[in-house]
Amino acid sequence: MAQLIQPVVHPQATPLVTCEFCGERSDPIYEVTLGQDTSTMFRCVQCSACRIAPVFPTEAVRTLYEKEYFQAAPWELEKGRVLAADYLAKVVRAAGSRRIAGRALEIGAGYGFFARSLAGMIGSTVDVVEPNESCRASMQELGEPGTIYASLDEVPARQKYENIFCFHVMEHLQGCADFFRGVAALLVDHGRLFILTPNAASRSFRLTGEFWGWSGRDQHYQFLPQTFPADYWPRHGFRLLESRDVVPADHHYPSHWHAWARMHAARLAGEGHGCEGGETTALRMKRGFFEWLAGFARQWPGYDGFTFERRWEELVSRVPHDELLLVVMKAEADTRGSGEHSQQ
Ligand SMILES: [Zn+2]
Repeated sequence: MAQLIQPVVHPQATPLVTCEFCGERSDPIYEVTLGQDTSTMFRCVQCSACRIAPVFPTEAVRTLYEKEYFQAAPWELEKGRVLAADYLAKVVRAAGSRRIAGRALEIGAGYGFFARSLAGMIGSTVDVVEPNESCRASMQELGEPGTIYASLDEVPARQKYENIFCFHVMEHLQGCADFFRGVAALLVDHGRLFILTPNAASRSFRLTGEFWGWSGRDQHYQFLPQTFPADYWPRHGFRLLESRDVVPADHHYPSHWHAWARMHAARLAGEGHGCEGGETTALRMKRGFFEWLAGFARQWPGYDGFTFERRWEELVSRVPHDELLLVVMKAEADTRGSGEHSQQ
């Protein structure tokens, strides 16, 4: 029964993968592909952080993102518009009494909907980093929120920001250390970095594994944990202000029902393979039933769901939720390594 959710193990070589965050052992959970290349997603036994090993060539990942990931299709623009409102509401809530003001930068701005909304809210321009060509062209057409850079390296070192935003970018990277170093260099002391990304500690991810709505087996290479060792953020020049699981926007996430039904259909298909003479009629019918359920469950984008599915979602969506909201503050140089307690 549990055959198909067993970890994908390559018999010739299961590398010893340790967690980038807590240093514990990580176990293989499923295969990840990029073009013709394959790799394996590993999950930390301690903090649930996930990352692939071995990593893909940096150039291949960059090319995918620059050329193919966005195509300026109407549904992409609509999705960007809807998500911008969701992101803005989440960061305004997370900012609390220290309101968002001053110079701002968004990394991975897409079509610039969030950056333009934020610019309107704070009454100032918002610079953006966006590697994708279609997105940059589209921003020039729709209205530039501020200066547009094609990569983080292009942002002048003298430029410092009070707030940096990074939504659903971390899962496309292969490691965090270089990124956090680059961001820390662009923040003023006590400047904040806001991150939204899939939550490695999500309960539904643990249940559905490779069938999880955000497993993204051809584009997601790492998932951040919700809890961090006390010295993790100080080591990167930051102090953790908030690590909270939040509910993804409807437009951003296939339903839990969809993941659950697909997982059962795949498990039942797996059972059939082991039998003499193939699947029995009962097994085929059961599998057909789950495929049917998955077939009309919600998939992004452009969900216009119905009440029963929403009720089901409320029933099965349990904490920790699927999206992770992190807010970290750049620490002054002399407070680094202070070993601040940084649990959620
Ligand atoms: Zn870990």
